[in-house]
Amino acid sequence: MAGTIAKEIEELIKIISKLPGLGPKSAKRIVLKLINNREELAKPLVNTLAQVYKNVIRCKVCGNFKSANSNCTCSNKNYDQICVVENIADMWVIQSSGIYKGHYHILGGTLPSLESKKNDELLVSSLVARVKKNSVKEVILATSATIEGQTTAHYIQDCLKDTKVKISKLAQGLPVGGEIEFLDDGTLFSAFKNRGPVVSD
Ligand SMILES: [Zn+2]
Repeated sequence: MAGTIAKEIEELIKIISKLPGLGPKSAKRIVLKLINNREELAKPLVNTLAQVYKNVIRCKVCGNFKSANSNCTCSNKNYDQICVVENIADMWVIQSSGIYKGHYHILGGTLPSLESKKNDELLVSSLVARVKKNSVKEVILATSATIEGQTTAHYIQDCLKDTKVKISKLAQGLPVGGEIEFLDDGTLFSAFKNRGPVVSD
C-alpha cells in the first residue's frame, strides 16, 4: 500500500523536524498549520525565508548578521562600549535580558582549549581595530565559563593590551558550597584565574 502522505508533505515534515526543539510530532503539527493557512502563513514564510537566504550575511567586522545591501550597525560612529560574545544566541540572551544596550562583537566560536592556535577566524583583530577606530572606552568579555570561553577571553585581553581600553569580565565565582572536586572545569578555571589575595586577621 502506498503511503498516505503526499511526498511533498513528507519531505517538509522531515526538514522541519530537524529544527531545534522540534521532533516529528510537532513538525507534523506545524506542517498541517502551514497547509491549512496557505495565504496567511505558508506564503509569507516562503517569501521571508527566501529573503533571509538571499540577503542575510555575516558582517566581517562585528560578526553579527546583517542585510547584504545595507550597512551594519557596527559602522555607526557613536558607541563607546562593546560586549564580546561567542555567538548570536548569547547576544540575543543578553539583549532580551535588557541588562546591556550597547554594541556587540560576535566571535563565532572560541579558541580550542589551552595551547591554542591563534587563528583569526574569531574576528579578534577586527575587534582591536574597532576599539581603536571608535575610541571605545570599555570592552565587556561575556564569553562562557568553559575552558574554551575563558581561554578565548584571556587571548582577547592580550590582544587588546596596547589599546589601553578598560576590559571587564562577567563575574563567574565559585558557587556557594561548591566543592572543588565536583566543580566543572570551566568554573574551576575561572575561579583560579580570578583569585584574589587572602587577607589574614
Ligand atoms: Zn558589523
